[in-house]
Amino acid sequence: MITGKTNVYGIIGDPVEHTLSPGMHNAAFKKLGLDNIYVPFHVKPDQLENALNGAFSLGIKGFNVTIPHKTEVIKYLDYLDIAAGLIGAVNTIEFGNNGAVGHNTDGIGAVRAIEELESVKNKKIMILGAGGAARAISFQILLSGAKHLVIANRTIEKALELKDDLEKLEHEVKVTDLGLKLEKELEDTDILINTTPIGMYPNISQKPLVTANMMHNDLIVNDIVYNPLKTGLLVEAEKAGAKTISGIKMLMYQGVESFKIWTGIEPPLDVFQKALMNEMNLEVI
Ligand code: NAP
Repeated sequence: MITGKTNVYGIIGDPVEHTLSPGMHNAAFKKLGLDNIYVPFHVKPDQLENALNGAFSLGIKGFNVTIPHKTEVIKYLDYLDIAAGLIGAVNTIEFGNNGAVGHNTDGIGAVRAIEELESVKNKKIMILGAGGAARAISFQILLSGAKHLVIANRTIEKALELKDDLEKLEHEVKVTDLGLKLEKELEDTDILINTTPIGMYPNISQKPLVTANMMHNDLIVNDIVYNPLKTGLLVEAEKAGAKTISGIKMLMYQGVESFKIWTGIEPPLDVFQKALMNEMNLEVI
């Protein structure tokens, strides 16, 4: 029941009607008996500043932030945590007595998804793509102790820009295009992460950038595309005998980390996962 004491959380984005986050958060609030509610808010770019001021005035406790506001929102916040500062994007806001604090849980969400199978520490990791998700994941992977990182991107200049920023963390970062060097680098790669939208619904038969013949059976392959759950890349990984991780796990763990920031509690993972699957009309994996 909503009362005068109910804490309000939400997600701001444009568009926002297909968000899967309210299902996860509201299910966990209910399970834990917390007097909290999570609501989607459609905020157009020219209303972002007003929306944040309004949220603060209304006593809203926290927001998730999605496309297209993740970078733009920073100028309206009072503080950033280390990961959000390095990545230069925010997906979680905590409104407190001292102002609005920006966090980024996308990277840690991806690392937690991978670490269900294997620690990233001291591993060689290859990331396909150099956009927003690749940026969040690559910073967190280095912060979490990966030995070295290869960024493979269609537009080499974008990969080089990301490499320059990542090298502030004093780790070995290599860059390659999608040609033959990619195959060579994959030979001793431990973990491959696709952050391009290739294979995403409705383009599910689009050819993946890496195919079974380029993989080995010790490889872990994580596709952050979550619709479909088993993308063409993951089908190729299975053919090669590699272990696979669906993008739904990153989506779940970024939400888990936001929930922890707001409540101080790790939500029950089974409740989060079941809610996500329900929203997507899928079976729990
Ligand atoms: P983005 O900033 O637009 O970056 C996309 C990257 O993919 C760019 O580096 C782009 O290369 C590359 N790319 C796009 N089409 C390509 C193609 N046909 N061939 C080769 N490379 C291609 O996008 P983003 O925000 O990083 O999101 C990327 C994907 O991750 C989306 O599918 C999104 O749904 C998914 N995602 C999932 C989660 C999750 O929780 N599971 C979270 C965030 C994002 P160029 O630099 O050459 O353009």
